[in-house]
Amino acid sequence: MVWAPHDREGRGRFGLRLRARLFDPINASVPVLVALFCLARPSGLIADIPYWSIAALLVSTLLVNSVGGALWSDATSGWRLAARVGVEMATIAIVVYGIGWGPILAIGFVYGAADTMRTVGSAATRPAMVWTLVCMGLGQLAVFLGLAPTLVHQPLVHGLSALAALGALLTMKLLDWFAHARETSESRFRALVQHASDIIIVTDSAGQLNYVSPAFDRILGFSAREFGNRPASELMHPDDLARLRAEMTADALAAQGNGGWRTELRMRDGAGAWKWFESTVTDHLQDPNVRGIVANLHDISARKEAELALREAHERFRSAFENAPIGMAMADLEGRVMRANPAFGKIVGRRSVELPGLSLHELTHAEDREATSAAMRRLTTQETDGYRIEKRYLHVEGHEVWVSVSLSCVHNDDGPLYLIAQVEDVTERRALRERLAYAAIHDPLTQLPNRILFMDRLEVALSRAVRQNRQVAVIFMDLDRFKLVNDSMGHAAGDRLIEIVADRLRATVRPNDTVARFGGDEFIVLCEDVVGESVALGLADRLSGALAQPVVLAEGEVFVSASMGVAVSRQVGDASAGGDPDDSAASLLRDADTAMYRAKELGRARTEVFEEASHVVALQQIRTRSELHRALERREFRVFYQPIVEVLSGRLAGVEALVRWQHPERGLLHPGEFLSTAEESGLIVPIGALVLEEACQQLAIWHAERRRQGIAPMSLGVSVNLSPRQLVQPHFVHQVADILRSTAVDPGALWLEITEGALAGDAAQTIDTLEQLHALGVRLSIDDFGSGYASLGYLRSFPVEALKIDRSFVDGLGRGTEDSTIVGSVVALARSLGLICIAEGVERSEQISQLVTLGCDYVQGFLLGVPLPADTLGDAMCDDLSAWAVNEAPLFSEALGSGSSEGAPAGMPAFVVPPGVVPPPDTLVDTRG
Ligand code: C2E
Ligand code: CA
Ligand code: CA
Repeated sequence: MVWAPHDREGRGRFGLRLRARLFDPINASVPVLVALFCLARPSGLIADIPYWSIAALLVSTLLVNSVGGALWSDATSGWRLAARVGVEMATIAIVVYGIGWGPILAIGFVYGAADTMRTVGSAATRPAMVWTLVCMGLGQLAVFLGLAPTLVHQPLVHGLSALAALGALLTMKLLDWFAHARETSESRFRALVQHASDIIIVTDSAGQLNYVSPAFDRILGFSAREFGNRPASELMHPDDLARLRAEMTADALAAQGNGGWRTELRMRDGAGAWKWFESTVTDHLQDPNVRGIVANLHDISARKEAELALREAHERFRSAFENAPIGMAMADLEGRVMRANPAFGKIVGRRSVELPGLSLHELTHAEDREATSAAMRRLTTQETDGYRIEKRYLHVEGHEVWVSVSLSCVHNDDGPLYLIAQVEDVTERRALRERLAYAAIHDPLTQLPNRILFMDRLEVALSRAVRQNRQVAVIFMDLDRFKLVNDSMGHAAGDRLIEIVADRLRATVRPNDTVARFGGDEFIVLCEDVVGESVALGLADRLSGALAQPVVLAEGEVFVSASMGVAVSRQVGDASAGGDPDDSAASLLRDADTAMYRAKELGRARTEVFEEASHVVALQQIRTRSELHRALERREFRVFYQPIVEVLSGRLAGVEALVRWQHPERGLLHPGEFLSTAEESGLIVPIGALVLEEACQQLAIWHAERRRQGIAPMSLGVSVNLSPRQLVQPHFVHQVADILRSTAVDPGALWLEITEGALAGDAAQTIDTLEQLHALGVRLSIDDFGSGYASLGYLRSFPVEALKIDRSFVDGLGRGTEDSTIVGSVVALARSLGLICIAEGVERSEQISQLVTLGCDYVQGFLLGVPLPADTLGDAMCDDLSAWAVNEAPLFSEALGSGSSEGAPAGMPAFVVPPGVVPPPDTLVDTRG
């Protein structure tokens, strides 16, 4: 069974095999034998036969043997085996009986038997024994008949033959036993090896393969024959080979004894992949039965792969654990840390190596421990697989750290093993969340509640008020002219002002009242527990009192006032009450807002209580907006003219153009009733353009008429009010130039009045526009001077030529107030800047005498003439104001009836200043008389 490469007989056709046998090199020994026999014959060692028969004898045995071998050489049983053995025995018999030694050479039969047994095994014993008997019997017969020569003569020959046959048979039987024993052990070995899952190889001392077990093909996927006659080392991984060469010395092998020398190594399989084997090598070089090194190779590739996968998994886990950006810890079931990563350590301010042994419990903030323990219990009793909670850990420095902890339990079949905690520092996230939540309901600048929070509180307050039979008041507050501060002093100053106002308001209300800011300059106060309006009004008073103190900013001192609207919730049982609290919250706020608008309209710095009527006014404003469009299309706007008089001469110096709206249903409307709406909607731009054009046309007519009558043109010409919006129109200057050209009005006769607010916007652009207008020859004046925030010094940067002192200062003249001081200094300053001064709103004669004293150049006001339409004034505009004195009575009453601020007090005489005379106040002439 031992396999040696190239040892198998090839199977071919009979002819081929016969040829192979005939030309077998061993046959070269035949002539040698022939020669030897011939040499031995004279000495009597060979029977006395002719020489040719010696040669014939040997050649014929060669032929017979070759034919037999070619026919049956691989036969192992049955008649073919018998024939094969028979041929072998017969050739032996021919030789031994041919040379005369017959029975003496019975050992030749033993040789023949052994030879066939060598290849066929013990199965050859029986035919060998039978043929031995047959051949010897036939040989003896031939000797007896004298057919065969014999060197042993009677009476010995037959007896000797019987003895020799017996000896040969016994020896054959002995061989049979040996062969049989070997075959049994071999077949046992084969049975063991055939299906063994391990590869068994045997190499010689040089490492050449002598034997491989069938598992070799199975496991490596190629046969040993394919591998060829190469050293076993070529199968091995170079690294392992190097190691083996170093370690597997003869001494090492010997030292291992019978147990063998164990190692792990890789061998290449048919596909070129490396397979892992556990190999046990035993040295059997000294064992005569083996004479080799036996290696038992147990395929452990699967185990190795699993080990590798496990190692990789472990490494992956280790790396993920150690480098995780979030804190990770393994803890026993009591919560004692077994291992923690650096991120965990960072959260609690310790190094990760310091953590094992500490309990998660100790790391937890005292207040959160109970909740944590309960959750952990549920985990270890397997009520849950894991949980996540947000709690506080204690930093080593003592402060608390908000963390989000996910804890899970690792189980095996026997139950829970250990806990895994994933910990994330959420302190910042939490703070951010809180900040966002706060920011969502607070005003960022003042930290006051914003609209959302306010509405929420208002709703709560309202529903509580209903239960407790109380009332709730809302005060809607809007700072007056805040935009001016913003525009003239900058947004930083505006913000600062808002902050100071917020502080003051907060300090003024009771702790359970709410002050909120809705953005801009709007503040809203919620006052709970109110009984009647008076309480709310008292609070409004206190609030405006708190604002009255001047506010000192880095940019200067500012006086703040606010317009306030108060709305009080209806009492329970009030017939008009109804709807859900939500509804009434929104409506209460809207009512307060409406009241605030009313306060603005009525001159600001005041408080108005909501009335249904004012709601109607608010609605009217909405209507006004849509009607304004229509009014423009239908040309419903009119221009009225009010005289401006030179104080010293009492002569008409010019007129101010003032717009009116001839409303088809509501009658003549004054700017106060529609101008703010027009400003808001931007319709002021076309309206203003209309007034400008109309005024210029009218001035052209008047000047023409005066020229005709030989009167010099009015020194100041016509003044037209400009809205800030007009000023920022890109083509405004062109528009003015076009109008001047088409009406042929001298540009110097056109004055454009600008309020301080209009100057406060984008200074560079405004200056640019004003410079262009100035370049056209148009003249500029500052309207309502003193009511805004413009500093006098700052006027220098604008090409203005006149100041119109606001009515509010002129009003106090002659009444012993400090207004005369203010007006005096304004006049003086205007002088020093080379500006003309015009006092507005002159209603009483004593105001005029004061103005004369103070050195004011021009006056304007009801005392001198109310605004009138051109067709009333006529084409001839004399210097003596007579045009305004005509039909004055109905016109005065019209002005009064319109409900505007304009209008002479009832019963007040209208005066005309005689031309060329400076009228002392008491000498003014009543022209109606
Ligand atoms: P303003 O430019 O200050 O015009 C003077 C306002 O004072 C006029 O009111 C005038 O009728 C009134 N007034 C004149 N003398 C007296 C007086 O002795 N006592 C009182 N109590 N009032 C007097 P009016 O016409 O109602 O105009 C109000 C404001 O509307 C104007 O104030 C002006 O700022 C604006 N406005 C008028 N027309 C136009 C216009 O065409 N365009 C623009 N943008 N604004 C205009
Ligand atoms: Ca004006
Ligand atoms: Ca004015």
